[in-house]
Amino acid sequence: MKPGHITTPAEANTIPQIEEMYIDIGARSREEAEAMGVRHGTPITYATAPVELANGLVASPSIDDRAGCTAIIHTAKAFAEKRPKATVYYIGSVEEEIGLRGAETCLHDLDVDMAVAVDTFPAGYQPDVNMRDLFYEVGNGPGLHVGEIGDRVRIQSQQVHRWLRKTAETHGIPHQVGLMNGGTDAMTMMQTRGGIPAATIGVPRRYSHSPVEVFSLSDFENLTKILKFAVEGLDASFTTARV
Ligand SMILES: [Zn+2]
Repeated sequence: MKPGHITTPAEANTIPQIEEMYIDIGARSREEAEAMGVRHGTPITYATAPVELANGLVASPSIDDRAGCTAIIHTAKAFAEKRPKATVYYIGSVEEEIGLRGAETCLHDLDVDMAVAVDTFPAGYQPDVNMRDLFYEVGNGPGLHVGEIGDRVRIQSQQVHRWLRKTAETHGIPHQVGLMNGGTDAMTMMQTRGGIPAATIGVPRRYSHSPVEVFSLSDFENLTKILKFAVEGLDASFTTARV
């Protein structure tokens, strides 16, 4: 960043254009940078480690969607000894943020009856967010969407949603039911193949898409519990038929 000492008032209130941005890696020349392994197209990320805050909250970059990936790994591990009756695919898909791409191709070759997107959601209850706009609250349990408002409004599969919701209710697991501005992989999964019934579940997090997203460990634990009980309870009687 340009030092504040020489920043003009007009510059101070503007976000620099991407072509004006640069990253200092300590190299003194192009050759030095190349010797360090830097090439055109080398990916970068925030070098921020997770930090534990008060009340079981954790700040970390990429909670979205490391939390979801970790939750499905925990769920798979829970069935390491005793497999569930249903066939379950645990998939870590790519490029959700830039167009829900990975989930669509993943499911193209799999003949599944339904799908669940395990994601994270922007939460309200931070000083600069009106709680009418984002009503999920960190610490009140994982969220279960009834719908998503992205480029178009998508109502989630009521059968899949109710299965997850009923699991949470039956086992007395805290959860929140809501709606989200923005989409998740459930949107695209419902439009791949012949339309796969899908719903979304995930942990709410504050400071969405920043290097200090904040989520609650208890929400995460409750998410893995709901997933585990939901999969455990699946048998041939489950149907996505509406009547
Ligand atoms: Zn996201």
